[in-house]
Amino acid sequence: MSYDKPLPRIDTLNKPFWDAAREEKLVVQCCDACGDLRFPPSPVCPKCLSAAQSWTPASGKGTLESWVDFHRAYWGGFNDALPYRVCLVRLEEGPLLVSNLVGNAGAAKLGAAVQVVFERVTDTVTLPKFALA
Ligand SMILES: [Zn+2]
Repeated sequence: MSYDKPLPRIDTLNKPFWDAAREEKLVVQCCDACGDLRFPPSPVCPKCLSAAQSWTPASGKGTLESWVDFHRAYWGGFNDALPYRVCLVRLEEGPLLVSNLVGNAGAAKLGAAVQVVFERVTDTVTLPKFALA
């Protein structure tokens, strides 16, 4: 499989997110002490400073908060993808995710309902992207 776009840097903190994505599941970090849900993950809860953190499934549903269309490729791998749409999605559970809006992206409207879709790009990386619901 050949993929020439940038890939996420997977570390011990975000590995559970990418492991879940590989199984086509979306998860967000959850504070075991206060229940705060967040993404991206952090080693301690920004609300209560607890270090007890776990991961919880997210529905994959959200609303489109914003987007931008890229008409210039800042990495060679995007040359054939122009123009592509980068979106900001507010998950039903609260956290914001930056991703790509795929499918019928031209029909996007602020506040539109979106649903996660998964794109396997390498043997180890599957990217969560969003499509209009
Ligand atoms: Zn907390």
